Formats: sequence, structure tokens, C-alpha cells
Amino acid sequence: MIRLAVVSGKGGTGKTVVTGGIAHCCTRSMVLVDCDVDASNLELILSPHIIDRWDFYGMDVAIIDPDVCSSCGICSGVCRFGAIATNGEVFSVRTSKCEGCRVCKLTCPAGAITMQPRVCGEIFYSGTRYGNLVHARLAPGASNSGLLVAEVKKTAFKRNPDCDLMLIDGPPGTGCPLISTVSGTDVVIAVTEPSRSGLHDLERLVRVCRTLRAGIYAVINKWDLNPDISDMIRQYCRREEIPVVGTIPYDECVMAAVRNGQPVTMSGSPAAQAIHAIWDDISMRLW
Ligand code: SF4
Ligand code: SF4
Repeated sequence: MIRLAVVSGKGGTGKTVVTGGIAHCCTRSMVLVDCDVDASNLELILSPHIIDRWDFYGMDVAIIDPDVCSSCGICSGVCRFGAIATNGEVFSVRTSKCEGCRVCKLTCPAGAITMQPRVCGEIFYSGTRYGNLVHARLAPGASNSGLLVAEVKKTAFKRNPDCDLMLIDGPPGTGCPLISTVSGTDVVIAVTEPSRSGLHDLERLVRVCRTLRAGIYAVINKWDLNPDISDMIRQYCRREEIPVVGTIPYDECVMAAVRNGQPVTMSGSPAAQAIHAIWDDISMRLW
């Protein structure tokens, strides 16, 4: 199985549009994964039907038993995450800040602290026209997004081990969810837009992906909105030996397709043709 992630240095670059287009163009057996667990939206394009769903448990959370607590204050001093709240007499844990490190439990002289499992989100296993899809929703205010991303990828592989391709819609940015997404991925498609900030984001993204030893292809979305900066991006990619596997023109059909819940590649629009050509190029490189 080849693991291919579509990523971008920031949100709104057209990453999910490219992922949905590839899902439609690809004729190989495929499992789809949406690793944008904070705002998963691949489902908006692929219209999945849910087969299975279950809770995701992140790191345990500390709980203080007020009947056992002697109000010594030690836990408040040792917690490096500011997760212990107190009015000087009563001590409690701010669960949204607790990272589950257990230091308070280990140092509490009264044995008043226990660690309890915490539901941090939900994982969905769904069917689509193009293959099964694993996506997730992180609970509001919950951390552990990197752990959830890893769990989503693991589920996709465990349930579809014989597929030719794991196609991943990555999270935006270069933080923990992106690192978890790209870890173990064979190749990424870095989608960028022709702006100075887009180029800067691409440079940061490339550094992270190289650290994680993933192969990199680049795609410039809406290239014709600023041909000069598109040229600068091409020059950067040439210097870095990153193949630019395609450019996508600005095309109002893209938003229309998203509103209709369809991959844009189902139309014959200029953006659709560009994504078809991008996939032809990439699939020849991969197989
Ligand atoms: S360390 Fe234990 S006994 Fe002391 S304040 Fe915290 S919970 Fe209470
Ligand atoms: S488990 Fe760690 S983060 Fe949570 S309250 Fe205890 S010391 Fe703080």
C-alpha cells in the first residue's frame, strides 16, 4: 500500500478539493483518511454513509477526591500545565488543561488523585463511492489531535490492508496533527497558492516533510491569480528538487462542486482537467 497525503502549510489552499478530485480520478483500490480532525470536511465532497462509529480516548485525566485531599497544595506546585485550580482550600483539576502526565498522582501524599479515561473525540468508519473513509471529530477543547490522527490512520490500514493506496486529506499547518499525518507516509502532495505567505508556508512544510523522510510533490492552486509568484514557487521547487506536478487555474466551478457535494473532477472545467492531469502524472510516478 502506498500512503499519499495531500497537505498544505495553511488552511484554505484547496487541499480537500485536490484530495476529492484524486479520489474520483484514481482507479486503484483505495482507502481514504481525513486527518483534519479539527475540521474534517472531506465528507462534504464524498457523501459517505456511516458504517461504524466509536469514542476515541486520549490521555487519561487526573481527578482529585475532595474527601481524601488534605489541601497541602503539592499538586498545584508540580503541575507544569497549570491544570490544578484552587481557592486555597479546595483543589480541583481543570480537565481541559490536564495533559495526563500523572506527576500530581505520583506526588500526592494523601493518595487523593486518580487517573481516569477521557473521551476526546469520535471516530467514524464510512463507505463512499471511491473506497472506505475513516474520519474523526475531536471533542471541543480537547487536545490529543496528533494521537487521534495516528488512530485514524491505524484504523484505515487495519481494516483495508490490501488496498493499493491510502489517500489522506491532511490537516493544515505544520503542527502536531501534520507531523502525525506525515509520519510513515510515502509521499505528500504539497498544495500551495501564489502568495508570499503561501511560499513561506510551503518552505516550512517542506522542512517538516523532509525531516519525516516523505517524498514531496508540489501543486500550485489558482496559479493564474499571481503568475509572478507562481514563477517564484516554481523556482523554489526547482532549487529544492521538488517536482511541480501541476498547476490548477482559478475556476468558479470548484466552489459550485463543493456546494453540490461532488468532486470537481466530475465536471469538465479547467480545474477538473488540471486535477486529472496531476493524477495521471503522479500515478505514473507511483506505479
Ligand atoms: S497533592 Fe493531593 S492532598 Fe495535596 S492538594 Fe493536591 S490532591 Fe490534595
Ligand atoms: S496529570 Fe499532569 S497535567 Fe494533569 S493535573 Fe496532574 S500534573 Fe497536571
